[in-house]
Amino acid sequence: MDILNYIDGTLVGPRSDAWLDSVEPATGTVHARLPRSNADDVQAAVEAAERAFPMWSALTAAQRSEIMLAIARGIKERFDELAEAESMDQGKPVWLAKAMDIPRAVDNISFFATEILHTHTRAFETNTSVINYTLRQPIGVVGCISPWNLPLYLFTWKIAPALAAGNCVVAKPSELTPLTAFLFSQICIDAGLPPGVLNIVHGLGAECGKAIVAHPKTKAISFTGGTVTGADIARTAAPMFKKLSLELGGKNPTLVFADVDVDAVAKKVARASFTNQGEICLCGSRIFVQRPIYDAFKQALLREIATITVGDPRETTSRNGALVSEQHLEKVLSYIDLARAEGGTVLCGGERVHLEGRCANGYFVAPTLIEGLGTECRVNQEEIFGPVATIIPFDTEDEALRGANSTTYGLAASVWTNDVSRVHRVARLLESGIVWVNTWLERDLRTPFGGVKSSGVGREGGEEALRFFTEAKNVCIQF
Ligand code: NDP
Repeated sequence: MDILNYIDGTLVGPRSDAWLDSVEPATGTVHARLPRSNADDVQAAVEAAERAFPMWSALTAAQRSEIMLAIARGIKERFDELAEAESMDQGKPVWLAKAMDIPRAVDNISFFATEILHTHTRAFETNTSVINYTLRQPIGVVGCISPWNLPLYLFTWKIAPALAAGNCVVAKPSELTPLTAFLFSQICIDAGLPPGVLNIVHGLGAECGKAIVAHPKTKAISFTGGTVTGADIARTAAPMFKKLSLELGGKNPTLVFADVDVDAVAKKVARASFTNQGEICLCGSRIFVQRPIYDAFKQALLREIATITVGDPRETTSRNGALVSEQHLEKVLSYIDLARAEGGTVLCGGERVHLEGRCANGYFVAPTLIEGLGTECRVNQEEIFGPVATIIPFDTEDEALRGANSTTYGLAASVWTNDVSRVHRVARLLESGIVWVNTWLERDLRTPFGGVKSSGVGREGGEEALRFFTEAKNVCIQF
C-alpha cells in the first residue's frame, strides 16, 4: 500500500520519488511505504496553505464548524478501519484504539468545531470617550508535528484548534505511524475541506519535520515529541520569533499514601503505568509508596501486573501489544539492563516476550517492575517510554515530594490518598503541569494540558489552544 501526501487538496507522492517503509511492529513486516518528503514537498504544502488562508480565515466560525463536524462524522464512519490501522501501525491492541484513540480523535475535532461557536473577545472601557476591544485573529500558516504513541489522537489534538481558529496547516505525523493520518486526509477530502486548508506531509523528522519548522512562512509550531527534539525545534524557530507550543517528555511520579484501599489502588496504578505498553507521555513510571503499606501494595501490584497479557494486538484478550519499533524495543531493554547494573531488582517482566505464529518477530516486552533504585539513578531520571516502572518506598510527605520533583521533567503526577488536606498541599507543591488525584488519564478537553521544566512550554486544550493559534490585536477608539 502507498501512503500519499495530502497537498492542496490532492493525494500525491513525494516530488523526489523517495519512499520509506512502514513496519507493522507486531509482526516486524513491511505493510506500506510512505513518502520520504523533503523541503520541496514542504514548500508546495506551505504555498497551498498560503493560498487557502484568505478564504478559510474569512469564513464565519459557523461555516468552519460545519466542515469540521463533517470531518468528525467521517472519522466515525470509518471507525473500525481507523482502529485497525492504528493498531497495525503502532502495535497497540485494536480494542484500545477503539476505546481510546479513535473516539478521542472524533472528540478533538467536534470539541474545537463547537468551541469556536461559544468564544468571545474582551473590551476595556478606559473612560467615557475611549474604548478598547481585542481581536483574536488567526496567525496564518502553522506547522503541527506529532509523535507515534497516540498517532491520530495527538495529530487531531493539534490540527483541530489550528483549523477552528482559522489557520491553514502543514502537518507531519511520525514517520513510524503515518497510516491513520493518511486515512484522515481522505476523510478531509470527502468532508469537503477546501484544498490547501490542511496539508499533510509524510517523512523523516530531521528532513521533512525540520523543513516545516525552518520555513519562514510557518508562523507557529505546535509540537509533541521528545525533549531533545523540542530543544532542536526551539533553536531553529527562535531566531524567526515563531510562536511555539512544545509538549515534551515525562518521568511521571505516582504517589500512593498509606490511607488507600491497597487492592483497588494497585489496579488503577497498574493501568496508569502500563496502558498502551507504557507508551503514553502521562504514564506513571515512578511509583512512590508510603512505608506502612509498601509490601502489601507491592504484592497487590505484582498480582495486577500478572493479569496484563502481552499478545497479538488483534486479539481482544491482549491487554498490551507490541512496542512501536525494533529500535524502541532495544532502547527499553537497554534500560532494564541499566536498572540491573544500577543495583535494581527486577520483580517481574524484565525481558522480551516471544510469541508464536503471526507475531513471532514482533517487538513485545513484558510489563516490568523494578525496586531498589534510588531516585537519582538514571533509570529514575530518564524517560524510558515503555512498560517499565520502578517502585520506591517513602516515609513522609516531604520525602515523597522531594522524590517526585527530583527529575528535570514535570508533565503529570498522580496522587492516591483519602486525606483532603494532603491532596491540596501536595497538589500545590508538585512540579507538574497536571495533577490527578485518585484517578489517571481523566481528561476534560476544556482544561489546560502541558508540562513544566523539560516537559514543555505552553498549554494545549480548550481556550489555551485557541489562544495559541491566534494573535491578540488591541483596537483603541476615541469617540
Ligand atoms: P520525537 O521527538 O522523536 O518525534 C516527534 C515528531 O517530531 C515526529 O513526527 C518526528 O518525526 C518529528 N521530528 C523528529 N526530529 C525533528 C526535527 N529535528 N524537527 C522537526 N520534527 C522532528 O518523539 P517520538 O515520536 O519518539 O515520541 C515520543 C516522545 O513524545 C516521548 O518523549 C514522549 O514523552 C513525547 N510525548 C509527549 C506528549 C506530551 O503531551 N507532552 C504526548 C505524547 C508523547 P519522525 O518520527 O519521522 O522522526
